Amino acid sequence: MRVLKFGGTSVGTVDSINQVIEVIKSRVKEDEEVAVVYSAFGGVTNRLIEIGNMASNADIEYQDHLHSVEERHFNAIRGLIPVKQQSSLIAQVKGLFNKIEDLLRGIELIQEISPRTLDLLVSFGERLSTTIITAAIKEKGLTAQMLDTREVIVSDSNFGNANVNFSTTNDNITNYFKENKAQVTCITGFIARNIDGVTTTLGRGGSDYTASIFGAALTASTIEIWTDVNGMMTADPRKVKNAFTIPKISYAEAMELSHFGAKVIYPPSLTPAFQKNIPVKVLNTFEADHEGTLISRESPKKAYSITGISSIDDIALVNVQGNGMIGVAGVSARLFSVLAANKISVILISQASSEHSICFAISPKDAKEVKSLLEEEFAVEMSHSDIESINIQEHLSVIAIVGEGMKASSGTSGKLFGVLGQNGVNVIAVAQGSSELNISVVIEKKNISKALNAIHERFFNVDGVTLNLFMVGPTGLIGKTLLRQIHQQKAYLKKNKNLNLKLIGLSNTRQMLIDAEGIDISKWKEELKERGEKTNLAEFVGDIQTLNLPYSIFIDNTADKNMVQFYYPLMDASVSIVTPNKVANSGPYKDYKKLQDIAKARNVKFLYETNVGAGLPIINTLQGLIEAGDEIHKIEAVLSGTLAYIFNNFQMGKSFLQIVKEAKEQGFTEPDPREDLSGMDVARKILILAREIGLELEPEDVTIEPLLNEACTKAASVEDFYTELDKDNDRFEKLLLEADALDKKLRFIATLENGEAKLGLRTVDKNHPFYNLAGSENIIAFTTERYKHNPLVVKGPGAGAEVTAMGVFADIISLSSLLN
Ligand code: ADP
Ligand code: ASP
Ligand code: MG
Repeated sequence: MRVLKFGGTSVGTVDSINQVIEVIKSRVKEDEEVAVVYSAFGGVTNRLIEIGNMASNADIEYQDHLHSVEERHFNAIRGLIPVKQQSSLIAQVKGLFNKIEDLLRGIELIQEISPRTLDLLVSFGERLSTTIITAAIKEKGLTAQMLDTREVIVSDSNFGNANVNFSTTNDNITNYFKENKAQVTCITGFIARNIDGVTTTLGRGGSDYTASIFGAALTASTIEIWTDVNGMMTADPRKVKNAFTIPKISYAEAMELSHFGAKVIYPPSLTPAFQKNIPVKVLNTFEADHEGTLISRESPKKAYSITGISSIDDIALVNVQGNGMIGVAGVSARLFSVLAANKISVILISQASSEHSICFAISPKDAKEVKSLLEEEFAVEMSHSDIESINIQEHLSVIAIVGEGMKASSGTSGKLFGVLGQNGVNVIAVAQGSSELNISVVIEKKNISKALNAIHERFFNVDGVTLNLFMVGPTGLIGKTLLRQIHQQKAYLKKNKNLNLKLIGLSNTRQMLIDAEGIDISKWKEELKERGEKTNLAEFVGDIQTLNLPYSIFIDNTADKNMVQFYYPLMDASVSIVTPNKVANSGPYKDYKKLQDIAKARNVKFLYETNVGAGLPIINTLQGLIEAGDEIHKIEAVLSGTLAYIFNNFQMGKSFLQIVKEAKEQGFTEPDPREDLSGMDVARKILILAREIGLELEPEDVTIEPLLNEACTKAASVEDFYTELDKDNDRFEKLLLEADALDKKLRFIATLENGEAKLGLRTVDKNHPFYNLAGSENIIAFTTERYKHNPLVVKGPGAGAEVTAMGVFADIISLSSLLN
């Protein structure tokens, strides 16, 4: 004998019931005799509860709602049974609905619905579904009989969650099957009766339990739980897209996963099967060929350190705290007895080793009751301040990672906390079962989806790690180039580093687009144009926060000073920032400090390698030296591509003005070249470096020895400036001649030494590392304790879209190294 169970998700519609019958037929072929347990049609139990509550509140609209439930059942009959054969079934079903109406009228009259009445009301769900499906099966040519489980399953009177009397029940079941034979026995899930014949139910989701009870009583070869997913999965597939089927799992693991919210199987339902060692399979009605999951005693070696992750979205955490609890035996015993006596179920317990507090999780619906029960129980202790407080915190969730493999491998909890930390998810309480089968953490409900996905990605790294990118400024030169580079490199990163770069958000000054499924990078322009909305940056940032995706990165490719205000809330929401935009780091020191502090506090990254020297590894090198304990004595640098170009090309025979114009023509300068010649940009860069080594400098602390005279600086237009610059040509030529005479070169150099930042035009001799520079090269020399005699030099192109975008790209990729 084989026992099958079809849940509400499998018996929702005519099509799905036809699917169910196909499965049953295939099993009859193999086994000849099968027992099949059904739930109510999908959603019907919930509807009946709602209708019952409406009636008890004298809300007569319940009648309309009941009518629609009735219609649904009649539609099923019409879809499943030929017209000629419908009448007796319709009469039967109508009879059941008449009984429901009578019951509801009673509820409406007394304006009360007790657990006992509610059990009777919801029992109609399974009675209706099983009646209709039995008839449909007969219609398909199989012999079928219906068994209302109230005839055989006997329970106590704990309405809503009744406990089965197994000895009587098992006898009843075996006797029934001895006396009644059919190819298919159709059994109502979920419902039972007490010793007086009053209807009871076995707890929500209890049809699974019914199947297990029958399986054990009949010593079935297998119990098959048919549902709408491919077995038990590594996580709830509705919450974690990348969840996948666990082919084999032990009873203990399956129970643990279901206890912590894996709804696919009702937790107690495995016990009878486990005791009799009957294998349970979880299968998909809509993909019947899929192997699904086999639950048995065995826990095969798995490829991953954990077996699955589950979660309960809504819990409340109770914290009982007080010095008087230390060393006083019995406080927790009393506490949990009160809860047990009042049938409050405790989801997890976490006690600090100091015994100063006890913390446990319950369903939020019990919160009020628990508070008053405990206040009553511990009234004396509270009046003596031995117990200081009983706090209840709501809007929380529990996540449990489960697996027998945790016993053998160390570092699982470290990994779990690491992932949560990197995503700014605060852990409010922790519990580890003594069996080492699960570690559970309590977190804020708003982070549940992010946490589940990030944990899943880390432990079941099947599709690789995903970085979720949000970019502002895609239309500028750097942004455009970066998107092209990402597009070109995506496949390589996937193949070689198992890294996915997913573009979720884009915004330029006109339009913005956010798509959690990802934006096609190869067509970002069209996507933004066709699907974008009018830009509103505050909204864009708000959406990033609401989406709350793991490993979110905000890339600011603008030079916009207004962008910085958004860095703070983003980092607060644990979004990392990557940017070539210098504004945030080169304004007032306190702003710089604030960003660094938030990054530290939130455990997010704020990366800006391209602020200085574009793609050259300058900031990383500096940070590396400092972290490794080196001491920075001096930094000398040519940090402006424009000024480098100008002085690398300024020779006798050409006027200074000519060189400046040449630089402009080649695209090396800003539209007004004075912005480069003023040295302001270099000043910002040296300021950032100064701050990196711990100097609390303000922008005005950087001394700029001006290159241009006052007339040039004050000239009203670029043309006027050119005129003034030409007038000043002699001064520049003189400087050049003097340098040439000594075999020296002119360089515009920024220096940081003895806590002071300076910049100005200098001469360097042949032995100086800056002597040989070409084109628009940048160069930086670090003289440190370890590089005392021969400075550490970084040299190369320090401007241009390709290298800057590449530097930003490298920063983005560096974030993935945190994830391994
Ligand atoms: P049924 O009506 O068949 O009893 P349920 O809705 O009770 O179905 O359970 C099936 C659902 O359980 C799936 O649709 C899935 O969303 C959810 N679920 C939660 N956790 C898991 C998990 N770890 N594996 C598979 N399904 C899960
Ligand atoms: N119909 C019941 C419920 O919705 C039992 C079940 O589906 O397993 O809880
Ligand atoms: Mg279920």
